[in-house]
Amino acid sequence: PPTTRVDKLLSSMGYGSRSEMGQLAKAGRILLDGTALPDASARIAVTPDLPSRMKIAGQPLDPVAGLVILLNKPLGMTCSHKEAGPLVYDILPPRWRQRSPAISTIGRLDKQTSGLLLLTDDGALLHRVISPRRHVCKTYHARLARPLAGTEAALFASGTLMLEGEAKPLAPAHLQVISDTNALLTVTEGRYHQVRRMFAAIGNHVEDLHRESLGGLSLPEDLSPGQWTLLDESQIALIF
Ligand code: URA
Repeated sequence: PPTTRVDKLLSSMGYGSRSEMGQLAKAGRILLDGTALPDASARIAVTPDLPSRMKIAGQPLDPVAGLVILLNKPLGMTCSHKEAGPLVYDILPPRWRQRSPAISTIGRLDKQTSGLLLLTDDGALLHRVISPRRHVCKTYHARLARPLAGTEAALFASGTLMLEGEAKPLAPAHLQVISDTNALLTVTEGRYHQVRRMFAAIGNHVEDLHRESLGGLSLPEDLSPGQWTLLDESQIALIF
């Protein structure tokens, strides 16, 4: 495994400057396998088990690079720094905003959409998930303003539906009707405001929108809005 200087690693994880990490080490507050590392210029192997072996100021080391976070996004938070309002990143530990590589969302949910949102610092993974060629399914629960007519599923499945202002029809999408104003819609694309615009295109209106799953990953029942969990390798593999 690659090795790196302890001060460089911790600094890239948002713990502080390299010289601050030197001070912390001198104070005996950086432990590896229970032993203080007196010199932060020491090199260590960056392995996934490091958080269970390393303690910084009494706390286990944060997850090392290559993390994937599954968040139950609450309503009212934005995924983009360009929009007004609190950011989903504000839910994570403040130190994580200083990490390099940076943590970013995998795709976006609207401010007024809740549910399953992934975040990662792994740029290659991000691009694989959002790549149109991969057709990763996203399933949304939509609550509608008007009753469904019964013809929507066939239209969404047809691959001919056009969104306002776009030149290319939508790929086939699967609609599962739950009640006259509730449905699950599964799409493989990620166009801007896609689900809201699909229902607008057929004369309906989405009142509430919640993402339930992405690929083979579903939002765990016990994960409340605003709560998040780190995914392990086998859970990450469920995306594709
Ligand atoms: N489609 C939308 O319209 N909004 C979202 O947040 C996600 C999909």
